[in-house]
Amino acid sequence: MAQILVFGESGADGDPVAITAELLGAATRLNEAIGGDGVACALIGAELEMAAQAAIAAGASTVYRAQHDALAQYQTDSYLPVAAAIVEQVAPAIVLFGQTSLGRDLAPRLATRLGSAVAMDALALAAAGDRVQVTRSCYGGNARQVVTVESDPQVVTVRAKSQDPLPEDTSRTGDIVAVDAAPGAARARVVGKETADTSGVRLEDATIVVSGGRGLGAPEAFADLERIAADLGAAVGASRAACDLGWYPPSQQVGLTGTIVSPELYVAIAISGASQHMAGCGGSKNIIAINKDPDANIFRYCRFGIVDDYKKVLPQLELELKQLVADR
Ligand SMILES: Cc1cc2nc3c(=O)[nH]c(=O)nc-3n(C[C@H](O)[C@H](O)[C@H](O)COP(=O)(O)OP(=O)(O)OC[C@H]3O[C@@H](n4cnc5c(N)ncnc54)[C@H](O)[C@@H]3O)c2cc1C
Repeated sequence: MAQILVFGESGADGDPVAITAELLGAATRLNEAIGGDGVACALIGAELEMAAQAAIAAGASTVYRAQHDALAQYQTDSYLPVAAAIVEQVAPAIVLFGQTSLGRDLAPRLATRLGSAVAMDALALAAAGDRVQVTRSCYGGNARQVVTVESDPQVVTVRAKSQDPLPEDTSRTGDIVAVDAAPGAARARVVGKETADTSGVRLEDATIVVSGGRGLGAPEAFADLERIAADLGAAVGASRAACDLGWYPPSQQVGLTGTIVSPELYVAIAISGASQHMAGCGGSKNIIAINKDPDANIFRYCRFGIVDDYKKVLPQLELELKQLVADR
């Protein structure tokens, strides 16, 4: 059985990003289950030293590092031949990408170039003989399907936060192999980059998320949520309905077509708990819901639920939380 190859990613300054460790955790578990030959990580970019060391600490035994100034920014044309060269060199049985901007674009193109196929947006991975069973969401988040790629190598993209990383072990050792593959000529030119205007804790990284929905009734109510979130060191999220109404920035939307979060605590205020919303927060360790409808779907998922008008509950909740924070 061949190796499992993870395509890792690095941040703007070459720093490691969380999805790489999550993929390496998943690859390590799969490798054990299918009796594979180990886990390798491919990194493509301009500055990869930190990301390579982090990949080894996160479970990679070999890192294939393709470093070139022309690879500083992701471009399909420049990355594709390099990715194909790494796969040719490693000859893996399974290739994992994150379901990120890079993975969504590069994985299907790479699979096609390799004469194989891709299963996108895996929520869970399991071994069945030498095949990976990929569980993914379908019908707008209302059902799940299990698919396998029958051709080789099996290319899979994996949703962020769906897999646990291994505990980081900086004493692990591994090989770093320089890949000498020429970047392809880019036909597109990046003329600018705009960063989403968010302050405070990033939604993806938050251990507490306070989210509001259409039931808040007005955009001003998000100011209350922001105040509570600031006290808790939490991020503020929103349902799609609230974002579509222009009440909160789309960058803060939680759900199937928004950000996936899995904090320790998710507080859902006046959110119905539609399946598409739960696809983005169902992995939270604890969910607290405030909703005036006792039959709201959110109560099927939450650990603690308060059935009442949020306007009555929030002031009391805010006082209690302030006290809790003061007593910490
Ligand atoms: C393909 C597709 C993708 C989607 N992706 C997403 C996604 O990523 N994220 C997402 O969120 N949605 C998504 N949706 C939309 C989703 O189906 C729901 O429409 C949306 O989540 C509803 O948002 P909501 O719960 O805020 O609003 P509503 O469904 O209107 O629910 C409002 C809730 O507030 C409660 N309420 C009202 N007033 C009060 C009050 N005073 N106090 C307490 N409770 C009150 C009501 O009882 C109700 O439960 C998607 C839909 C589709 C088809």
